[in-house]
Amino acid sequence: MKIINVKMSQYIPYGSLVEGGKIEASYPLSHVAVQLVREYDENALYNIGAVEDMPGGGPYGYYSTGDNVHQLPQEIADRVRLEFNTENIDLIPTSFLLNSIPELNEQSIQIGDVIHVNINRIITESQHPNPIIFNFNVIKEIAKTILHEATHVIEVETTGETSESSAEGAETPFDRYINDKFDEIAQIIKRELGLSDEEFLSHFQQEETK
Ligand SMILES: [Zn+2]
Repeated sequence: MKIINVKMSQYIPYGSLVEGGKIEASYPLSHVAVQLVREYDENALYNIGAVEDMPGGGPYGYYSTGDNVHQLPQEIADRVRLEFNTENIDLIPTSFLLNSIPELNEQSIQIGDVIHVNINRIITESQHPNPIIFNFNVIKEIAKTILHEATHVIEVETTGETSESSAEGAETPFDRYINDKFDEIAQIIKRELGLSDEEFLSHFQQEETK
């Protein structure tokens, strides 16, 4: 039996974030990408409160500790401010919080860090005449970007620092995992686009005669 780790954030319900809007508003099949990330690593989104779009170009994704959200019970928050001599609890990695306040447990920290995905860039770069392949490519890039940024989040929350090499390293096996699921994802896209069997097949037949 698969145990889903739901202890994370009560701040924004686990799993509701993307379906509720944000990147879904920019690309309606974004939830398929989020689901792939969860299937691949059920803990990847443990600290994530929201996945948001990042209009205006730039890299594929973006994460800043300045967007971190760490909510603590009031009395513990007061002690943390004294102990770390700071007003900004959001910037203190959760592992540091747990280590410094013995009574604090993970369940009482509500973590809602924010990552950004450049939906517009991904859509632009994924253009393909076959809508199944186009959407597959978009979903794959969104999923990889979410995992990349989520890897930064996990590293920051556990060690206080992160590197590009580990975030990029997380993408490579995930890319293979997604490619291996092409048939399954194609069926999800077919359903989401409301395509008939004939329409679905015609996209691949056209592809072959080109
Ligand atoms: Zn990165």
